[in-house]
Amino acid sequence: MKTVQDYIRTIPDFPHAGILFRDVTTLFGDPRGFRMAVDQMLHPFTGQRIDKVAGLEARGFILGGAVAHQLGVGFVPIRKKGKLPWKTIEQDYALEYGTATVEVHEDAIAPGERVLLIDDLIATGGTAEAGIKLIQRLQGEVVACSFVIDLPDLGGRKLLENMGMTVHALCT
Ligand code: IMP
Repeated sequence: MKTVQDYIRTIPDFPHAGILFRDVTTLFGDPRGFRMAVDQMLHPFTGQRIDKVAGLEARGFILGGAVAHQLGVGFVPIRKKGKLPWKTIEQDYALEYGTATVEVHEDAIAPGERVLLIDDLIATGGTAEAGIKLIQRLQGEVVACSFVIDLPDLGGRKLLENMGMTVHALCT
């Protein structure tokens, strides 16, 4: 029987020489693979109260939308700066060279709501950390952060765990 990992394609030298890019489009494109990934992301939260799912642009939207639908809760997009049409709060984070900014609508999460944060992959954890900070600034409670892939050598999981987060990943 195939595992989630078996559906992920690895592309050498994308987007730069020396980078091994983990391509989840092959996972999303397969009906068994996609269902398996979404079901496994949901599994740890059986019986837990979750009020919202937040997804990180862009692949976190695909997974997060499916997870939110299964849970019967709303979905919150955390987007790169300049894409959301209404009032936002923003959070900067460090990239290998320079910084980037993510935003969320200021009314997307109500104080006290329990939020599950989702993305396809955690590397350094900078993107997820920025997402967590946005949720917390809206006084949401981050129930957990869930990823398909964890690249443990890059330290993201440790970073989030040191912030007190529960981290789930389907494969490393
Ligand atoms: P981090 O902020 O260093 O943890 O990087 C994670 C972010 O970069 C996530 O939003 C991922 O979608 C994206 N990312 C980094 N490397 C890869 C990869 O190999 N495949 C897919 N997405 C990646």
